[in-house]
Amino acid sequence: AASHKTPRDQIGPRQVRNAVYSYVRPQRQCNPELLAVSPAAMRDLGLDLSEAKTELFRETAAGNHIWGWDEEKMEGEGYPWAQCYGGFQFGEWAGQLGDGRAISLFEAKIPATGHKYEVQLKGAGITPYSRFADGKAVLRSSIREFVVSEALNALGIPTTRALALTLLPESRVRRETMEPGAIVVRMAESWLRLGNFDILRARGDRALIRRLATYVAEDVFGGWDKLPGRLDNVEKPEKASEPHRGVGRDDIEGPAGAEENRFTRLYREVVRRNALTVAKWQAYGFMNGVLNTDNTSIFGLSMDFGPFAFMDNFNPAYTPNHDDHFLRYSYQNQATIIWWNLVRFGEALGELLGAGAEVDDPFFVDQGVTEDKADPIIKRAEKLITQTGEEYKAVFYAEYKRLFTARIGLKTFVESDFDDLFSALLDTMEALELDFNLFYRRLSTLRTDEIATPSAREEKAARFFYKEGVTGVPNETEARKRVADWLEKWRKRVIEDWGEGEEAEQGRIHAMKAVNPSFIPRGWILDEIIKRVEKEGDREVLNRVMQMALHPFEDSWAGRTFDGVQYKGDEEEEQRW
Ligand code: AMP
Ligand code: MG
Ligand code: MG
Repeated sequence: AASHKTPRDQIGPRQVRNAVYSYVRPQRQCNPELLAVSPAAMRDLGLDLSEAKTELFRETAAGNHIWGWDEEKMEGEGYPWAQCYGGFQFGEWAGQLGDGRAISLFEAKIPATGHKYEVQLKGAGITPYSRFADGKAVLRSSIREFVVSEALNALGIPTTRALALTLLPESRVRRETMEPGAIVVRMAESWLRLGNFDILRARGDRALIRRLATYVAEDVFGGWDKLPGRLDNVEKPEKASEPHRGVGRDDIEGPAGAEENRFTRLYREVVRRNALTVAKWQAYGFMNGVLNTDNTSIFGLSMDFGPFAFMDNFNPAYTPNHDDHFLRYSYQNQATIIWWNLVRFGEALGELLGAGAEVDDPFFVDQGVTEDKADPIIKRAEKLITQTGEEYKAVFYAEYKRLFTARIGLKTFVESDFDDLFSALLDTMEALELDFNLFYRRLSTLRTDEIATPSAREEKAARFFYKEGVTGVPNETEARKRVADWLEKWRKRVIEDWGEGEEAEQGRIHAMKAVNPSFIPRGWILDEIIKRVEKEGDREVLNRVMQMALHPFEDSWAGRTFDGVQYKGDEEEEQRW
């Protein structure tokens, strides 16, 4: 069999050393069709929606036009590139990976907001990092990424964004069957992931690690002074302007005691951002499905949407990844696994963390750590990583608690809520197989005066079951009683926090609806959209679902009609349109 191997098979994929990216031109596409854009992403990129109708936009979204580059004169402001990164996949070092089917086009600074976005094409053809694959993306997965990116952002969860979706009608992509190809135009404040550092560590390229870390601090985060300080040596930094991007710097103290330099502060920033994001995933039941280090963002974004899912019936052991036999990336393991990944990142920074002030020593800058000093530096780095782990936990729990409190409509958190309300609710949801997100939305509109008596509570309990009747328990009477008991504890706390009367009732309902979505892109909804686009040639359905994804807290989608198709909404037995 060996004799049939091509040279590429024998030597393996090309290794790109001493570099963090390669220039590469997207493949030219015939007859691309722009299927949809995200109006919100257009706005955030500073573009008017009408620009999507221009030839220039369409050709750029297909990879045919290179923005800011004259292909005849071979000159311009910049040229498309693909990143070099490695990664630990399912806990094992996987070597060089890189952008195998993603090509970045340009970086855009938005004057109105001060945001910076790197705009990129996914599925635009092979790159030096494609290894044995084709550099293409199928329409199916592209639709999923297009919708979920924008849905997560609208839910207030940091994520890479999706600007546009292009169908490539002449490109047939071989997967299990032949499928249509597509390109997603996506954008992010940064596409760097932990894997960018892993690969440099594996190659022992400490100079490039230092340069890349400096780039992250100065260009991605906007300067060393933006990174968290230790409370005892830095004045309290102000809170970030956007709450969901904010790192909540003044709530938790960083590593104390150990000698902390600016690279440690950079490490802590990355750790804190990821702690906040994973807390939001847990609070909204989002599962990435493949949390390898190459899919874990330096900027704390949700990224790489493969087998992702939102939790339907609450089951903490659920994973949307059918190949994940050990449940490594299941719902209940996400926070632990992100920390595991962040420890690998700490190890890649290694000597930069442990060196203390010595990190700026000219000798250290040139030569790195010397043999005689390696031991204490490594020990210090290990200690800093362990301490930052405590910070990770604290930031995670603070954010998770904040969101859980808000989702059940409380203004304050008291210690007993943790057992009486949080744990009791999750245990009940699991035991009775209640739908996770639907529960909170239905709870939002429940009035406390409707559940003042045991019989009223038991009657109302039924509304939390996804389908009429109870699945998962043999005894429906017991199930209703269990939910009713929880409702009573909840009712008391709500009255404690809000008081009684119409104004209190309306205030709480309003607050709860603003954090509990009436629409989330469930798996079956995405399947339905894919079917309509692929099999029925429907295009409008993408605009409709995008509207819903962009306004997930809308009072109700029930009764709304989008071009003749009615969405029944969450008060019906099932969500559909
Ligand atoms: P993922 O599992 O999506 O994180 O992908 C792991 C690696 O495989 C990344 O380096 C991807 O760029 C690469 N990859 C996945 N699918 C393709 C494809 N169709 N063509 C080229 N590279 C791919
Ligand atoms: Mg990936
Ligand atoms: Mg992927």
